[in-house]
Amino acid sequence: SGFYPLLGTMQHSLQLLWLSLFRCLQTENHELVRQETSSAKTLMDIGTRRIFSSDHDIFRESVRKFFQEAVLPYHAEWEKAGQVSRELWEKAGQQGLLGVNISEKHGGIGGDLLSSAVIWEEQMYVNCTGPGFSLHSDIVMPYITNYGSKDQIERFIPEMSAGKCIGAIAMTEPGAGSDLQGVRTYAKKDGSDWILNGSKVFITNGWMSDLVIVVAVTNREAHSPAHGISLFLVENGMKGFSKGRKLEKIGLKAQDTAELFFEDVRLPASALLGQENKGFYYLMAELPQERLLIADMALASCEFMFEETRNYVKHRKAFGKTIAHLQTVQHKLAELKTQICVGRTFVDSCLQLHEEKRLDSSTASMAKYWASDLQNNVATQCVQLHGGWGYMWEYPIAKAFVDSRVQPIYGGTNEIMKELIARDIVIDK
Ligand SMILES: Cc1cc2nc3c(=O)[nH]c(=O)nc-3n(C[C@H](O)[C@H](O)[C@H](O)COP(=O)(O)OP(=O)(O)OC[C@H]3O[C@@H](n4cnc5c(N)ncnc54)[C@H](O)[C@@H]3O)c2cc1C
Repeated sequence: SGFYPLLGTMQHSLQLLWLSLFRCLQTENHELVRQETSSAKTLMDIGTRRIFSSDHDIFRESVRKFFQEAVLPYHAEWEKAGQVSRELWEKAGQQGLLGVNISEKHGGIGGDLLSSAVIWEEQMYVNCTGPGFSLHSDIVMPYITNYGSKDQIERFIPEMSAGKCIGAIAMTEPGAGSDLQGVRTYAKKDGSDWILNGSKVFITNGWMSDLVIVVAVTNREAHSPAHGISLFLVENGMKGFSKGRKLEKIGLKAQDTAELFFEDVRLPASALLGQENKGFYYLMAELPQERLLIADMALASCEFMFEETRNYVKHRKAFGKTIAHLQTVQHKLAELKTQICVGRTFVDSCLQLHEEKRLDSSTASMAKYWASDLQNNVATQCVQLHGGWGYMWEYPIAKAFVDSRVQPIYGGTNEIMKELIARDIVIDK
Protein backbone atom coordinates (compact mmCIF):
# COMPACT_ATOMS: atom_id res chain seq x y z
CA SER A 1 0.00 0.00 0.00
CA GLY A 2 3.03 2.28 0.55
CA PHE A 3 4.08 1.71 -3.05
CA TYR A 4 0.98 3.01 -4.78
CA PRO A 5 1.11 6.60 -3.48
CA LEU A 6 4.76 6.70 -4.57
CA LEU A 7 3.80 5.38 -7.98
CA GLY A 8 1.11 8.03 -8.05
CA THR A 9 3.69 10.73 -7.24
CA MET A 10 6.05 9.40 -9.92
CA GLN A 11 3.23 9.34 -12.42
CA HIS A 12 2.32 12.85 -11.45
CA SER A 13 5.93 14.05 -11.89
CA LEU A 14 6.13 12.35 -15.27
CA GLN A 15 2.86 13.94 -16.25
CA LEU A 16 4.18 17.35 -15.27
CA LEU A 17 7.41 16.74 -17.18
CA TRP A 18 5.47 15.62 -20.24
CA LEU A 19 3.16 18.60 -19.93
CA SER A 20 6.02 21.08 -19.76
CA LEU A 21 7.78 19.34 -22.67
CA PHE A 22 4.53 19.35 -24.62
CA ARG A 23 3.99 23.04 -23.98
CA CYS A 24 7.47 23.82 -25.24
CA LEU A 25 7.21 21.64 -28.34
CA GLN A 26 7.83 23.59 -31.47
CA THR A 27 5.66 23.08 -34.50
CA GLU A 28 7.06 23.27 -37.99
CA ASN A 29 6.43 26.99 -38.19
CA HIS A 30 8.17 27.48 -34.86
CA GLU A 31 4.95 28.36 -33.05
CA LEU A 32 4.56 27.11 -29.50
CA VAL A 33 1.88 24.43 -29.18
CA ARG A 34 -1.16 26.36 -28.14
CA GLN A 35 -3.46 25.41 -25.29
CA GLU A 36 -7.16 25.02 -25.90
CA THR A 37 -9.46 27.05 -23.64
CA SER A 38 -10.35 23.98 -21.55
CA SER A 39 -6.81 23.89 -20.09
CA ALA A 40 -6.05 27.62 -20.17
CA LYS A 41 -6.10 29.74 -17.01
CA THR A 42 -9.19 31.60 -18.19
CA LEU A 43 -11.51 31.12 -21.16
CA MET A 44 -10.46 34.51 -22.52
CA ASP A 45 -6.68 34.07 -22.41
CA ILE A 46 -4.59 35.46 -25.23
CA GLY A 47 -2.31 32.89 -26.89
CA THR A 48 -4.75 29.97 -26.78
CA ARG A 49 -6.66 27.93 -29.42
CA ARG A 50 -4.88 26.14 -32.23
CA ILE A 51 -6.78 27.97 -35.00
CA PHE A 52 -4.91 31.18 -34.15
CA SER A 53 -1.26 32.20 -34.57
CA SER A 54 1.06 34.53 -32.68
CA ASP A 55 0.20 37.25 -35.22
CA HIS A 56 -3.44 36.94 -34.19
CA ASP A 57 -2.34 37.23 -30.55
CA ILE A 58 -0.55 40.51 -31.19
CA PHE A 59 -3.62 41.75 -33.04
CA ARG A 60 -5.87 40.56 -30.21
CA GLU A 61 -3.80 42.50 -27.66
CA SER A 62 -4.38 45.73 -29.57
CA VAL A 63 -8.08 45.01 -30.17
CA ARG A 64 -8.55 44.23 -26.47
CA LYS A 65 -6.90 47.53 -25.57
CA PHE A 66 -9.17 49.36 -28.02
CA PHE A 67 -12.38 47.91 -26.58
CA GLN A 68 -11.22 48.47 -23.01
CA GLU A 69 -10.18 52.06 -23.59
CA ALA A 70 -12.40 53.41 -26.38
CA VAL A 71 -15.63 51.47 -25.77
CA LEU A 72 -16.08 50.15 -22.22
CA PRO A 73 -15.81 53.48 -20.35
CA TYR A 74 -18.42 55.16 -22.59
CA HIS A 75 -20.88 52.33 -23.04
CA ALA A 76 -23.23 53.22 -20.17
CA GLU A 77 -23.58 56.71 -21.64
CA TRP A 78 -24.33 55.24 -25.08
CA GLU A 79 -26.93 52.91 -23.56
CA LYS A 80 -28.82 55.98 -22.39
CA ALA A 81 -28.46 57.63 -25.81
CA GLY A 82 -29.54 54.45 -27.65
CA GLN A 83 -26.52 54.71 -29.94
CA VAL A 84 -22.73 54.93 -29.91
CA SER A 85 -20.84 58.03 -31.08
CA ARG A 86 -19.68 58.74 -34.62
CA GLU A 87 -16.21 59.42 -33.24
CA LEU A 88 -16.04 55.80 -32.12
CA TRP A 89 -16.61 54.60 -35.68
CA GLU A 90 -13.86 56.86 -36.99
CA LYS A 91 -11.53 55.80 -34.19
CA ALA A 92 -12.16 52.15 -35.07
CA GLY A 93 -11.44 53.03 -38.70
CA GLN A 94 -8.17 54.73 -37.81
CA GLN A 95 -7.13 51.66 -35.78
CA GLY A 96 -7.81 49.42 -38.77
CA LEU A 97 -10.66 47.54 -37.11
CA LEU A 98 -13.31 47.95 -39.82
CA GLY A 99 -13.36 45.75 -42.92
CA VAL A 100 -10.42 43.69 -41.65
CA ASN A 101 -11.34 40.71 -43.82
CA ILE A 102 -11.85 42.84 -46.96
CA SER A 103 -8.94 42.54 -49.38
CA GLU A 104 -6.54 45.45 -49.77
CA LYS A 105 -7.22 45.60 -53.50
CA HIS A 106 -10.82 46.47 -52.61
CA GLY A 107 -9.81 49.13 -50.09
CA GLY A 108 -10.01 46.91 -46.99
CA ILE A 109 -7.36 45.86 -44.50
CA GLY A 110 -6.56 42.50 -46.13
CA GLY A 111 -6.66 40.40 -42.96
CA ASP A 112 -7.98 36.85 -42.72
CA LEU A 113 -11.37 35.79 -41.38
CA LEU A 114 -9.80 34.81 -38.07
CA SER A 115 -8.73 38.41 -37.55
CA SER A 116 -12.37 39.41 -37.94
CA ALA A 117 -13.23 36.75 -35.38
CA VAL A 118 -10.75 38.33 -32.96
CA ILE A 119 -12.74 41.58 -33.17
CA TRP A 120 -16.10 39.80 -32.73
CA GLU A 121 -14.81 37.99 -29.66
CA GLU A 122 -13.06 40.95 -28.05
CA GLN A 123 -16.25 42.99 -28.32
CA MET A 124 -18.09 40.30 -26.36
CA TYR A 125 -15.26 40.07 -23.81
CA VAL A 126 -15.98 43.69 -22.78
CA ASN A 127 -19.72 42.92 -22.80
CA CYS A 128 -20.46 45.95 -24.99
CA THR A 129 -22.99 45.25 -27.71
CA GLY A 130 -23.45 48.85 -28.86
CA PRO A 131 -21.05 49.17 -31.79
CA GLY A 132 -22.46 47.40 -34.85
CA PHE A 133 -18.98 46.77 -36.25
CA SER A 134 -19.44 43.11 -37.16
CA LEU A 135 -22.59 43.78 -39.18
CA HIS A 136 -20.88 46.66 -40.97
CA SER A 137 -17.55 44.92 -41.64
CA ASP A 138 -18.46 41.28 -42.09
CA ILE A 139 -22.02 41.37 -43.40
CA VAL A 140 -22.56 44.63 -45.30
CA MET A 141 -19.08 45.20 -46.77
CA PRO A 142 -18.77 41.69 -48.26
CA TYR A 143 -22.01 42.21 -50.24
CA ILE A 144 -20.41 45.23 -51.87
CA THR A 145 -17.06 43.59 -52.62
CA ASN A 146 -18.67 40.32 -53.77
CA TYR A 147 -21.44 41.75 -55.96
CA GLY A 148 -20.66 45.45 -56.43
CA SER A 149 -19.33 47.17 -59.53
CA LYS A 150 -15.82 48.62 -59.58
CA ASP A 151 -17.33 52.08 -59.08
CA GLN A 152 -19.43 50.97 -56.10
CA ILE A 153 -16.44 49.29 -54.48
CA GLU A 154 -14.17 52.28 -55.01
CA ARG A 155 -16.80 54.68 -53.78
CA PHE A 156 -17.92 52.94 -50.60
CA ILE A 157 -15.30 50.48 -49.32
CA PRO A 158 -12.51 52.95 -48.40
CA GLU A 159 -15.04 55.20 -46.65
CA MET A 160 -16.50 52.24 -44.80
CA SER A 161 -13.03 51.04 -43.75
CA ALA A 162 -12.40 54.53 -42.39
CA GLY A 163 -15.63 54.49 -40.34
CA LYS A 164 -16.90 57.54 -42.22
CA CYS A 165 -19.68 55.62 -43.95
CA ILE A 166 -21.72 53.33 -41.66
CA GLY A 167 -23.41 50.36 -43.30
CA ALA A 168 -26.69 48.56 -42.64
CA ILE A 169 -28.71 45.86 -44.38
CA ALA A 170 -32.49 46.02 -44.55
CA MET A 171 -34.29 42.75 -45.24
CA THR A 172 -36.95 42.56 -42.53
CA GLU A 173 -40.31 44.31 -42.89
CA PRO A 174 -43.17 44.64 -40.42
CA GLY A 175 -44.94 41.80 -42.28
CA ALA A 176 -41.92 39.74 -43.44
CA GLY A 177 -39.12 38.38 -41.26
CA SER A 178 -38.47 34.66 -41.39
CA ASP A 179 -40.25 34.47 -44.72
CA LEU A 180 -38.03 36.72 -46.82
CA GLN A 181 -40.03 35.84 -49.91
CA GLY A 182 -42.86 37.83 -48.36
CA VAL A 183 -41.00 41.15 -48.83
CA ARG A 184 -43.31 43.92 -50.11
CA THR A 185 -40.87 46.81 -50.61
CA TYR A 186 -41.00 47.39 -54.35
CA ALA A 187 -38.63 48.99 -56.82
CA LYS A 188 -40.30 49.89 -60.09
CA LYS A 189 -38.30 50.61 -63.19
CA ASP A 190 -38.59 54.13 -64.60
CA GLY A 191 -36.36 54.51 -67.66
CA SER A 192 -32.96 53.51 -66.35
CA ASP A 193 -33.89 54.62 -62.79
CA TRP A 194 -35.80 52.79 -60.10
CA ILE A 195 -38.55 54.15 -57.84
CA LEU A 196 -38.45 52.56 -54.41
CA ASN A 197 -41.42 52.32 -52.03
CA GLY A 198 -41.86 50.41 -48.78
CA SER A 199 -40.57 50.15 -45.24
CA LYS A 200 -38.18 48.10 -43.14
CA VAL A 201 -38.01 47.37 -39.43
CA PHE A 202 -35.45 46.19 -36.81
CA ILE A 203 -32.49 47.48 -38.83
CA THR A 204 -29.16 47.28 -36.97
CA ASN A 205 -27.10 50.49 -37.42
CA GLY A 206 -30.26 51.82 -39.05
CA TRP A 207 -30.34 55.18 -37.31
CA MET A 208 -26.67 56.02 -37.87
CA SER A 209 -26.37 54.40 -41.29
CA ASP A 210 -25.01 56.29 -44.28
CA LEU A 211 -25.52 53.40 -46.65
CA VAL A 212 -28.22 50.74 -46.54
CA ILE A 213 -28.47 47.61 -48.66
CA VAL A 214 -32.21 47.37 -49.26
CA VAL A 215 -33.93 44.15 -50.30
CA ALA A 216 -36.78 44.91 -52.71
CA VAL A 217 -39.08 43.14 -55.16
CA THR A 218 -38.24 44.02 -58.76
CA ASN A 219 -40.34 41.49 -60.60
CA ARG A 220 -43.81 40.81 -59.25
CA GLU A 221 -44.50 38.38 -62.09
CA ALA A 222 -41.54 36.09 -61.35
CA HIS A 223 -42.52 32.38 -61.23
CA SER A 224 -41.46 32.39 -57.56
CA PRO A 225 -40.80 35.43 -55.33
CA ALA A 226 -37.16 34.33 -54.95
CA HIS A 227 -36.63 35.04 -58.65
CA GLY A 228 -37.92 38.60 -58.43
CA ILE A 229 -35.85 40.17 -55.64
CA SER A 230 -32.94 42.63 -56.05
CA LEU A 231 -30.57 44.54 -53.76
CA PHE A 232 -30.10 48.32 -53.84
CA LEU A 233 -27.59 50.67 -52.29
CA VAL A 234 -29.62 53.46 -50.70
CA GLU A 235 -27.78 56.45 -49.28
CA ASN A 236 -28.68 58.64 -46.36
CA GLY A 237 -30.13 61.96 -47.55
CA MET A 238 -31.74 60.60 -50.71
CA LYS A 239 -35.09 62.29 -51.28
CA GLY A 240 -37.94 60.17 -49.91
CA PHE A 241 -35.70 58.06 -47.64
CA SER A 242 -36.44 58.65 -43.95
CA LYS A 243 -35.57 57.00 -40.69
CA GLY A 244 -38.17 56.27 -38.07
CA ARG A 245 -37.51 56.12 -34.36
CA LYS A 246 -34.68 54.25 -32.69
CA LEU A 247 -36.54 51.21 -31.40
CA GLU A 248 -36.73 50.69 -27.64
CA LYS A 249 -35.42 47.21 -27.00
CA ILE A 250 -35.15 45.06 -23.89
CA GLY A 251 -31.41 44.63 -24.53
CA LEU A 252 -28.68 45.86 -26.93
CA LYS A 253 -29.42 49.28 -25.42
CA ALA A 254 -26.54 51.11 -27.10
CA GLN A 255 -27.34 49.62 -30.51
CA ASP A 256 -29.28 51.91 -32.88
CA THR A 257 -31.90 49.54 -34.25
CA ALA A 258 -34.34 51.52 -36.41
CA GLU A 259 -37.24 51.60 -38.82
CA LEU A 260 -36.63 52.86 -42.37
CA PHE A 261 -39.14 54.31 -44.83
CA PHE A 262 -38.90 54.72 -48.59
CA GLU A 263 -41.37 56.96 -50.34
CA ASP A 264 -40.85 57.31 -54.07
CA VAL A 265 -37.07 57.25 -53.62
CA ARG A 266 -35.55 57.71 -57.07
CA LEU A 267 -32.52 55.48 -57.45
CA PRO A 268 -30.12 55.67 -60.40
CA ALA A 269 -29.24 52.46 -62.25
CA SER A 270 -25.87 52.57 -60.45
CA ALA A 271 -27.67 51.89 -57.12
CA LEU A 272 -28.49 48.32 -58.14
CA LEU A 273 -26.12 45.91 -56.38
CA GLY A 274 -25.20 42.96 -58.59
CA GLN A 275 -27.70 41.76 -61.14
CA GLU A 276 -31.40 42.46 -61.33
CA ASN A 277 -33.56 39.71 -59.72
CA LYS A 278 -30.54 37.87 -58.29
CA GLY A 279 -30.90 39.35 -54.79
CA PHE A 280 -32.32 36.27 -53.13
CA TYR A 281 -29.36 34.17 -54.28
CA TYR A 282 -26.89 36.73 -52.98
CA LEU A 283 -28.68 36.65 -49.60
CA MET A 284 -28.53 32.87 -49.46
CA ALA A 285 -24.82 32.94 -50.28
CA GLU A 286 -23.94 35.52 -47.62
CA LEU A 287 -26.10 34.32 -44.72
CA PRO A 288 -23.70 31.54 -43.54
CA GLN A 289 -21.08 34.15 -42.61
CA GLU A 290 -23.71 36.10 -40.65
CA ARG A 291 -24.67 32.91 -38.81
CA LEU A 292 -21.07 31.99 -38.03
CA LEU A 293 -20.46 35.49 -36.70
CA ILE A 294 -23.46 35.19 -34.37
CA ALA A 295 -22.25 31.78 -33.20
CA ASP A 296 -18.74 33.00 -32.45
CA MET A 297 -20.03 36.05 -30.60
CA ALA A 298 -22.40 33.80 -28.63
CA LEU A 299 -19.51 31.56 -27.56
CA ALA A 300 -17.36 34.55 -26.65
CA SER A 301 -20.22 35.90 -24.56
CA CYS A 302 -20.45 32.52 -22.78
CA GLU A 303 -16.73 32.72 -22.04
CA PHE A 304 -17.12 36.22 -20.66
CA MET A 305 -20.14 35.28 -18.51
CA PHE A 306 -18.36 32.22 -17.15
CA GLU A 307 -15.30 34.22 -16.05
CA GLU A 308 -17.48 36.95 -14.58
CA THR A 309 -19.34 34.33 -12.57
CA ARG A 310 -16.25 32.40 -11.51
CA ASN A 311 -14.88 35.65 -10.13
CA TYR A 312 -18.16 36.47 -8.38
CA VAL A 313 -18.62 33.15 -6.58
CA LYS A 314 -15.02 33.22 -5.38
CA HIS A 315 -15.72 36.47 -3.54
CA ARG A 316 -19.37 36.23 -2.49
CA LYS A 317 -19.79 34.94 1.06
CA ALA A 318 -22.68 32.95 2.51
CA PHE A 319 -22.81 30.72 5.59
CA GLY A 320 -19.30 31.80 6.59
CA LYS A 321 -17.57 30.75 3.38
CA THR A 322 -17.47 31.86 -0.23
CA ILE A 323 -20.22 30.31 -2.31
CA ALA A 324 -17.46 28.77 -4.47
CA HIS A 325 -17.02 26.31 -1.59
CA LEU A 326 -20.50 24.87 -2.13
CA GLN A 327 -20.45 21.67 -4.10
CA THR A 328 -23.63 22.49 -5.99
CA VAL A 329 -22.01 25.73 -7.17
CA GLN A 330 -18.84 23.90 -8.15
CA HIS A 331 -20.81 21.31 -10.11
CA LYS A 332 -22.76 24.03 -11.88
CA LEU A 333 -19.48 25.72 -12.89
CA ALA A 334 -18.10 22.36 -14.03
CA GLU A 335 -21.17 21.81 -16.22
CA LEU A 336 -20.99 25.31 -17.68
CA LYS A 337 -17.28 25.12 -18.43
CA THR A 338 -17.67 21.73 -20.11
CA GLN A 339 -20.56 22.93 -22.26
CA ILE A 340 -18.71 26.09 -23.28
CA CYS A 341 -15.50 24.23 -24.15
CA VAL A 342 -17.43 21.66 -26.20
CA GLY A 343 -19.17 24.51 -28.03
CA ARG A 344 -15.89 26.36 -28.55
CA THR A 345 -14.37 23.36 -30.30
CA PHE A 346 -17.22 23.18 -32.80
CA VAL A 347 -17.32 26.92 -33.45
CA ASP A 348 -13.53 27.06 -33.87
CA SER A 349 -13.78 24.25 -36.36
CA CYS A 350 -16.47 26.22 -38.25
CA LEU A 351 -14.26 29.33 -38.22
CA GLN A 352 -11.42 27.35 -39.70
CA LEU A 353 -13.68 25.75 -42.32
CA HIS A 354 -15.00 29.16 -43.31
CA GLU A 355 -11.48 30.57 -43.53
CA GLU A 356 -10.83 27.74 -46.02
CA LYS A 357 -14.16 28.53 -47.78
CA ARG A 358 -15.50 25.08 -46.85
CA LEU A 359 -18.27 25.95 -44.36
CA ASP A 360 -21.65 24.85 -45.74
CA SER A 361 -24.92 26.57 -44.96
CA SER A 362 -26.33 23.77 -42.84
CA THR A 363 -23.23 23.56 -40.62
CA ALA A 364 -23.28 27.35 -40.14
CA SER A 365 -26.95 27.03 -39.11
CA MET A 366 -26.03 24.34 -36.57
CA ALA A 367 -23.40 26.62 -35.05
CA LYS A 368 -25.79 29.59 -34.88
CA TYR A 369 -28.66 27.69 -33.32
CA TRP A 370 -26.62 25.69 -30.86
CA ALA A 371 -24.28 28.47 -29.73
CA SER A 372 -27.04 31.05 -29.26
CA ASP A 373 -29.13 28.56 -27.26
CA LEU A 374 -26.07 27.77 -25.16
CA GLN A 375 -25.51 31.49 -24.60
CA ASN A 376 -29.02 31.85 -23.21
CA ASN A 377 -28.65 28.82 -20.98
CA VAL A 378 -25.29 30.06 -19.67
CA ALA A 379 -26.78 33.54 -19.10
CA THR A 380 -29.68 32.14 -17.06
CA GLN A 381 -27.38 29.97 -14.92
CA CYS A 382 -24.84 32.76 -14.37
CA VAL A 383 -27.52 35.24 -13.27
CA GLN A 384 -28.76 32.57 -10.84
CA LEU A 385 -25.26 32.16 -9.39
CA HIS A 386 -25.15 35.95 -8.82
CA GLY A 387 -28.39 35.86 -6.79
CA GLY A 388 -30.25 39.20 -6.55
CA TRP A 389 -27.20 41.13 -7.70
CA GLY A 390 -27.44 39.30 -10.99
CA TYR A 391 -30.75 41.06 -11.58
CA MET A 392 -29.23 44.51 -11.10
CA TRP A 393 -28.25 46.50 -14.20
CA GLU A 394 -24.99 47.62 -12.54
CA TYR A 395 -23.75 44.01 -12.71
CA PRO A 396 -22.36 43.06 -16.14
CA ILE A 397 -24.07 39.69 -15.96
CA ALA A 398 -27.51 41.37 -16.03
CA LYS A 399 -26.61 43.13 -19.27
CA ALA A 400 -25.15 39.95 -20.77
CA PHE A 401 -28.40 38.16 -19.88
CA VAL A 402 -30.73 40.58 -21.69
CA ASP A 403 -28.35 41.00 -24.61
CA SER A 404 -28.21 37.26 -25.17
CA ARG A 405 -31.97 36.99 -25.71
CA VAL A 406 -31.98 38.30 -29.25
CA GLN A 407 -29.33 35.91 -30.54
CA PRO A 408 -31.73 32.98 -31.20
CA ILE A 409 -34.08 35.46 -32.94
CA TYR A 410 -32.08 37.48 -35.47
CA GLY A 411 -29.88 36.25 -38.32
CA GLY A 412 -32.70 33.78 -39.01
CA THR A 413 -34.54 32.39 -35.98
CA ASN A 414 -33.31 29.14 -34.48
CA GLU A 415 -36.50 27.47 -35.71
CA ILE A 416 -35.54 28.47 -39.24
CA MET A 417 -32.00 27.15 -38.58
CA LYS A 418 -33.53 23.77 -37.71
CA GLU A 419 -35.57 23.90 -40.93
CA LEU A 420 -32.37 24.41 -42.92
CA ILE A 421 -30.47 21.69 -41.07
CA ALA A 422 -33.39 19.27 -41.38
CA ARG A 423 -33.81 19.91 -45.11
CA ASP A 424 -30.22 18.86 -45.64
CA ILE A 425 -30.74 15.71 -43.55
CA VAL A 426 -33.75 14.32 -45.39
CA ILE A 427 -32.90 15.41 -48.93
CA ASP A 428 -31.95 12.62 -51.37
CA LYS A 429 -28.41 13.45 -52.42
C1 LIG B 1 -32.30 43.61 -32.33
C2 LIG B 1 -32.63 43.13 -33.70
C3 LIG B 1 -31.79 43.46 -34.76
C4 LIG B 1 -32.10 43.05 -36.04
N1 LIG B 1 -31.32 43.46 -37.10
C5 LIG B 1 -31.73 43.24 -38.37
C6 LIG B 1 -31.05 43.84 -39.47
O1 LIG B 1 -30.01 44.50 -39.33
N2 LIG B 1 -31.55 43.65 -40.72
C7 LIG B 1 -32.67 42.92 -40.94
O2 LIG B 1 -33.08 42.79 -42.08
N3 LIG B 1 -33.34 42.33 -39.91
C8 LIG B 1 -32.91 42.50 -38.63
N4 LIG B 1 -33.60 41.94 -37.59
C9 LIG B 1 -34.81 41.16 -37.86
C10 LIG B 1 -34.66 39.67 -37.58
O3 LIG B 1 -33.82 39.06 -38.50
C11 LIG B 1 -36.10 39.08 -37.57
O4 LIG B 1 -36.73 39.57 -36.42
C12 LIG B 1 -36.10 37.57 -37.61
O5 LIG B 1 -35.65 37.10 -38.84
C13 LIG B 1 -37.48 37.00 -37.32
O6 LIG B 1 -38.46 37.57 -38.11
P1 LIG B 1 -39.82 38.13 -37.44
O7 LIG B 1 -39.42 39.04 -36.34
O8 LIG B 1 -40.67 38.68 -38.51
O9 LIG B 1 -40.50 36.87 -36.79
P2 LIG B 1 -41.51 35.83 -37.51
O10 LIG B 1 -40.96 35.44 -38.83
O11 LIG B 1 -42.87 36.42 -37.49
O12 LIG B 1 -41.44 34.60 -36.53
C14 LIG B 1 -42.23 34.48 -35.34
C15 LIG B 1 -42.02 33.10 -34.76
O13 LIG B 1 -42.47 32.12 -35.70
C16 LIG B 1 -41.45 31.19 -35.97
N5 LIG B 1 -41.49 30.76 -37.37
C17 LIG B 1 -41.67 31.50 -38.47
N6 LIG B 1 -41.62 30.74 -39.57
C18 LIG B 1 -41.40 29.47 -39.15
C19 LIG B 1 -41.24 28.22 -39.82
N7 LIG B 1 -41.28 28.11 -41.14
N8 LIG B 1 -41.04 27.13 -39.06
C20 LIG B 1 -40.97 27.21 -37.70
N9 LIG B 1 -41.11 28.36 -37.03
C21 LIG B 1 -41.32 29.49 -37.74
C22 LIG B 1 -40.16 31.96 -35.71
O14 LIG B 1 -39.08 31.08 -35.47
C23 LIG B 1 -40.55 32.77 -34.50
O15 LIG B 1 -40.40 31.99 -33.34
C24 LIG B 1 -33.28 42.27 -36.27
C25 LIG B 1 -34.09 41.93 -35.19
C26 LIG B 1 -33.79 42.35 -33.93
C27 LIG B 1 -34.72 41.98 -32.82
